[in-house]
Amino acid sequence: MTEDIRVRYAPSPTGHLHIGNARTAIFNWLFARHYNGTFIIRIEDTDSARNIADGEKSQLDNLAWLGLDWDESPDKPGDYGPYRQSERNEQGVYQEFIDALLANGQAYKSYKTSEQLAAEREAQQAAKQAPHYIYEYEGLTNEEREAKYAEFEAQGLKPVVRFRVPEEKVFAWDDIVKGHIEIGAKEVGGDWVIQKADGMPTYNFAVVVDDHLMKISHVLRGDDHVSNTPKQMMIYDALGWDVPKFGHMALIINGETGKKLSKRDENVLQFVEQYKELGYQPQAMVNFIGLLGWSPKGEDEIFSLEEFKNMFDETRLSKANAKFDQKKLEWINNQWMRRDTDAVMPQLIQELVNADLISESDAQLKKDWLADVIKIAGVDGISYTREIVALVRKPFFELGDVTDEMVDYLTSDDGRKVFDAWEAAYTALPNDATAEDYMSAIRGIQNDLEIKGRNLWNPIRIATTHEIQGPNLPEMLVVLDKNTVLQTMADIKQKYLN
Ligand code: GLU
Repeated sequence: MTEDIRVRYAPSPTGHLHIGNARTAIFNWLFARHYNGTFIIRIEDTDSARNIADGEKSQLDNLAWLGLDWDESPDKPGDYGPYRQSERNEQGVYQEFIDALLANGQAYKSYKTSEQLAAEREAQQAAKQAPHYIYEYEGLTNEEREAKYAEFEAQGLKPVVRFRVPEEKVFAWDDIVKGHIEIGAKEVGGDWVIQKADGMPTYNFAVVVDDHLMKISHVLRGDDHVSNTPKQMMIYDALGWDVPKFGHMALIINGETGKKLSKRDENVLQFVEQYKELGYQPQAMVNFIGLLGWSPKGEDEIFSLEEFKNMFDETRLSKANAKFDQKKLEWINNQWMRRDTDAVMPQLIQELVNADLISESDAQLKKDWLADVIKIAGVDGISYTREIVALVRKPFFELGDVTDEMVDYLTSDDGRKVFDAWEAAYTALPNDATAEDYMSAIRGIQNDLEIKGRNLWNPIRIATTHEIQGPNLPEMLVVLDKNTVLQTMADIKQKYLN
């Protein structure tokens, strides 16, 4: 690509970072970084009633957690600021263009009340017509219209500004993802509001002014904005500006229901924050999201942000709906946990501390030991860090109950003999015995007593860990604390074998 690539992620701070928005941000980042372009964050906060406290901060914090960086934003002003629409509005950025459109008749002030609008809509519904705004100054000269404005103002009414839609036009563009699209101006529902009564510009207007002034070259965003594109194109047209290239990324659907992923799907976690809290790895989130509506050549599925950046190719953005498959996300996270135990460690420590199983300072001192525990416990069926706590709790931090089945193993003839032999062998082994040492001690008992299989292993495991099954016992013995194990065996003996 030869032109200067400038792309943007433009969140409205009306909520936390949703998977769909995170995808938009990630793909704009990839686009910019792959082509040495510029990645901009612009905050679209004109709908003040819907903004939430900390919405902006939470969005940016989550993007940073995913590993994204940006070149221009409210906290990193470049040459095209300010980067919040509310501040741009205060500076009169939009007013200038609204005034220009009002002056040349491409926009007008409308004083209809909400009751009037509702009545018009109802009448259209009753007549089985598609809802369509009815222009109230048809046939009037400019002077006559101005006179009407004055009349309404005198009644104390506040106007909105509406754009006069050129109904005969058709807007067409070659979408980077979807190919050629044409939408008739007639389909947008008639003259639409570009400035609200409170003086704020609406999204479809402000986005055009900002994308133009910020020299945005490509607009890559979600499928849900396709129907906004003709509205935006008519503003570019009216102001005599070049249109950026548009790309609308595939709809994300709920893999279970096949329907559009909706915030109401309560059984699907959809906010990046929620995954972060469960102990998902940021690399895994990026990996999963980077495959929603995009795929590389070949069969591999595990990629880092850097690898995605190098491979990025906008022609591989897919037209087909992207399936949100939570099982796949779990699998990807498991792959990343295996790749990088170091990255799991801070989260694991936090989880263990939260579960009151270890103190923060002990955990810091015992990092290598914890790494061994994870290795021995094995993360096969594990999807995220919080689940590791359940996996390592017993017996590394807390012993479970001794069940009746366990007591039967211990108190059988074989069980008693094995217990005595194991107690003696374990006590005799040095503190720094290896897994091989433990294994040969157990083999020695097997040979001496001629007891093998479950009758050999179960009493030993129960006496040591209060469990019948579990990870490889000789390996576990290396990381278990010797005094604790001796105490466990003494308790078992006193309670069940006297
Ligand atoms: N603020 C809009 C949104 O959050 C941005 C849409 C766009 O990229 O044009 O959906």
